Amino acid sequence: MKGARITALAGGTGSVKLVRGLYTINRSTLTVIVNVGDNVWMHGLYVCPDIDTIVYGLAGILDQPRGWGVKDDTFNFQKQLASLGEETWFQLGDRDLATHVWRTMRLRKGATVSEITKALCERFSIEAKVIPVTNEFVETRVVADHEEMHLQEFWVKRRGRDTVTRIKYFRAAKAQPAPEVLDAIGSADLVIICPANPISSIGPILAVPGVRRALSRTSAKVLAVSPIIGSNPVSGPAGTFMKAMKIEVSPLGVALFYRSFLDEMVLHISDRNLAPRMTGIGVKPKITDVLMRSAEDEIRLAKFLVTDV
Ligand code: GDP
Repeated sequence: MKGARITALAGGTGSVKLVRGLYTINRSTLTVIVNVGDNVWMHGLYVCPDIDTIVYGLAGILDQPRGWGVKDDTFNFQKQLASLGEETWFQLGDRDLATHVWRTMRLRKGATVSEITKALCERFSIEAKVIPVTNEFVETRVVADHEEMHLQEFWVKRRGRDTVTRIKYFRAAKAQPAPEVLDAIGSADLVIICPANPISSIGPILAVPGVRRALSRTSAKVLAVSPIIGSNPVSGPAGTFMKAMKIEVSPLGVALFYRSFLDEMVLHISDRNLAPRMTGIGVKPKITDVLMRSAEDEIRLAKFLVTDV
């Protein structure tokens, strides 16, 4: 259906590929609700990695091989900071840095992350709505080897080496959804859970009070694209986090995690044998190539998802 209202729930590197595909086919009626759990204060600046990945992706300036930051960026700030003896494990490119300075200045003047993200989208002439799930400082924390740390510290600084025992969504239970979040789910024609890390990207979105309920109640079809093929994630620490949460690392495990609101699960062709078990838990399986290696793949998958809306 032309003009169908599509709401996508997104993290960063995996999600942005599908979000770009959806934007190509449905520019102005796309709303992207973005994770904020991996936002982090760094050198006095508020960095929102997933929001920036989605915004840069839609603006066409994302460093695609990395999946974060601005393409063709330089790292002079970083080098200079290192020469001053500062820790620089979290990489920030020079152009990317402008976004974080700009955002932090606005936050200090009292603007919310929603307002700042909207303004950022306007600067880049992005027609889709990109909204943080909450304006509060929710933080995904990892308990690994009995030490609790920010997700970025676990994954970037310590390179995901420690044994994870728990994931916590700090401050989520008391957070308010940002304006438009619940309405974007309730009034959509189709809700898509992007191929994202279920625990560190979608989990913090679901942990914000009201979001799970809105997903269960919406009259829109809710479908998810599996970030797992066989028993491995396409990339990143989804397997480690799912195991820590005692969730089977498979598309079925992802579907069980989303089961209370999920109508359909899109599986990779090589996982077609899981279809009967998917049906058995009340989730309709849809089978296609879920790997996105090019812009054509992103559009192909996006079209496949919206066909019967
Ligand atoms: P993060 O915030 O950078 O962790 O990004 P996301 O949560 O949005 O994306 C990471 C997830 O996307 C990982 O679990 C990957 O397995 C998955 N992923 C990455 N690329 C693809 C792809 O092309 N297809 C599918 N189906 N999943 C992908």
